[in-house]
Amino acid sequence: MELIFATGNAGKVREAQQICDRLAKKWGINLTIVPMPDKVDIPETGDSYEENALQKARFVWDKYHKNCIADDSGMEVEALDGAPGIYTARYCDRDFADGMDKLLYELDRKQALAPEQRKATFECCLTVIIDGTMLSFRGTCPGRISLCKCGSAGFGFDPVFIPDATPSLCMAELPEEQKNLISHRGLAFEKLFRYLAEEK
Ligand code: IMP
Repeated sequence: MELIFATGNAGKVREAQQICDRLAKKWGINLTIVPMPDKVDIPETGDSYEENALQKARFVWDKYHKNCIADDSGMEVEALDGAPGIYTARYCDRDFADGMDKLLYELDRKQALAPEQRKATFECCLTVIIDGTMLSFRGTCPGRISLCKCGSAGFGFDPVFIPDATPSLCMAELPEEQKNLISHRGLAFEKLFRYLAEEK
């Protein structure tokens, strides 16, 4: 089955296809993730990951009437009361060219240096619309914010996030397949495949 991914982020499309290829072997279901046919700005004005993922998927369904998938994700930092959360994509502003530097600075300012003061999670809500039916799946990856940026793999905030599953490595230091096994997005996809396998 083909699913149009409601995103302009090529990194997300590639990562999603890699996740689907691995899960296809495990669950016996093939999903092909297709980029958006046109370059369009997809609205994202909800108050939660669920609302945003649904809004993006509906936008694509209404425009193309084709099966589609959307994700909304973000990082929640305990010492920042859950920020940046659903606003993670907008966390960079004019004074900070790099959102990761801003995050490290904010935690330094709070003198949150011990690992237990730097707890964070990556969150993902994955929404699919298949033949008009809408389904959502949530994935969470617990971890903490590193003291400095490490690694160059992945995208976004991967260089400052240390997953609990790999306590001495940042997400950006993991090979793609290993990230996808433990990541918020990988876990949400796993739930989608489990659902599709049960429905078969
Ligand atoms: P959105 O889901 O496209 O609204 O973007 C959420 C933002 O969260 C992205 O721009 C990234 O900065 C960040 N993010 C989401 N998932 C990941 C991930 O797997 N690794 C690193 N950063 C991520």
